[in-house]
Amino acid sequence: MEATAKKIENPRVRIAPSPTGLLHIGTVRTALFNYLFAKKYNGSFILRIEDTDKERSQREYENDILDGLQWLKIVWDEGLNPEARDEYLGDYGPYRQSGRAGIYQSYIKKMLDQGTAYYCFCSKEDLEAQRQYQMSIGQAPKYNGKCSNLPKETVEKYLKEGKPAVIRFRTGGGSVVFQDLIKGRIEFNSALLGDIAIAKDPSTPLYNLAAVIDDYEMKISHVIRGEDHIANTPKQILLQDALGLPHPEYAHLPLILGPDRSKLSKRHGAVSVNHYREKGYLPEAMINFLAFLGWNPDNDREIYAINHLIEEFSLERCQKSSAVFNLQKLDWINGFYIRNKSIKKLAEMGVPYLIEAGLIQPIFETGGHLAGIGGIELGETYLIPETKEKIDIITLENIVSLYQERLKYLSELPELVDFFFKNELDYPQELLFWKDMSQTDIEKALGGLEGVMGAVKPNDWARGHLEEILVQRAAEMGPAGDRGYLLWPLRTALSGKKFSAPPFAIAEILGKEKTLLRLKQAKEKLR
Ligand code: GLU
Repeated sequence: MEATAKKIENPRVRIAPSPTGLLHIGTVRTALFNYLFAKKYNGSFILRIEDTDKERSQREYENDILDGLQWLKIVWDEGLNPEARDEYLGDYGPYRQSGRAGIYQSYIKKMLDQGTAYYCFCSKEDLEAQRQYQMSIGQAPKYNGKCSNLPKETVEKYLKEGKPAVIRFRTGGGSVVFQDLIKGRIEFNSALLGDIAIAKDPSTPLYNLAAVIDDYEMKISHVIRGEDHIANTPKQILLQDALGLPHPEYAHLPLILGPDRSKLSKRHGAVSVNHYREKGYLPEAMINFLAFLGWNPDNDREIYAINHLIEEFSLERCQKSSAVFNLQKLDWINGFYIRNKSIKKLAEMGVPYLIEAGLIQPIFETGGHLAGIGGIELGETYLIPETKEKIDIITLENIVSLYQERLKYLSELPELVDFFFKNELDYPQELLFWKDMSQTDIEKALGGLEGVMGAVKPNDWARGHLEEILVQRAAEMGPAGDRGYLLWPLRTALSGKKFSAPPFAIAEILGKEKTLLRLKQAKEKLR
């Protein structure tokens, strides 16, 4: 059962970002919900660029928005052509508002002719003074209607003189009521609005009017957007009435809050989607996470792939109350998707981060069969700049696999595995000490390890065998069989880290020679 009694069939919905900043988490959440709604009901999802603010709109931001949506595979059916962005897909273009002046003109003219809109010549200073005055007498500020009844001749004279003007909408009084598909019945007293500015000139509408015209022209059936736009809805409904246009259905998604329950903003950390992409969150994890920012299934399941989201999505299950952006939850979901990748795929995704951190470099010798990921060419063999050795992709897969269980996001990888790519580790010698071990104990442990491991035949150098012999040896060493007396110094000597993968696996990957060298280097550090 949907929140609305009307059956939803082939809806047309849209995301209408303004390219005035990097793609924001909130915009993607809105895009996702529109996308899910469109897919669920066999509808169309439209991407419209609201670039009426010429000063603040930039192509760079538009590209960031498109790149982010494409990365997340939130695919639109109409709008800018993702492959050739100067072109449009769909029958209702142009899909950039900057290209639609001709369409807007006829609507604005109609409103001026019918008198539902008028020219206002009040200067900025006048308006500010009015505002100050109204506030000083305890009134909510709104336009005082000074130009609402100027004689026609005066208007014409002013226009001829080139006096700066805006076009205002005669909002009238009375209440506007609409049935929000998420929030329920909403009533708004339009007398509070005053006559709002709707256009800069006869071909340049401001946001509310442009949105109304485009939603109509693009046959939008449902406007699903953030709650921060709820105050625009009565204005848009009044404009639709003035123009004799039908009303689309409205659904306002709850606000996204930071952990301190204030509106999510830069203060809470990064809000641009690209940040999360660069940090190594997987697109499917982002989608899963964003879906829960305002929607819940009717069960406890938390992992949802996009096709399941499409199946289960409904506006009825969107919540009225705010959603909290919880980074731990995102990390948890991302970890889940990382654990579910094949090791081959995970290594392929991790390699660009290792390259970026300078731990490895691609070698361009394989010619034809290089695959590109994130702009970096991937091959089969890499160079380790510090050791001047080569490392193959299989070894890299082995290294990455050690951390598959604990990785929260891919950019954590270099820091976890850097010790595989170094000649010598740089770590405080105290790191080697386990519990109450003395220097002599450590030296003994390291020396013992050198002996036992040095005796392992190269063919037996495998994690299972190493574990077998070392665990046995460790049990003999420490008090009451505390294996840490041997295994802690081993692990820290090999990795230089307090927390790392099991030492046997590290030793296997490092190889016998390097393992013995690290034990020797660690012993030297103690001197
Ligand atoms: N351009 C508006 C924004 O970026 C769109 C609002 C709407 O969906 O109507 O917030």
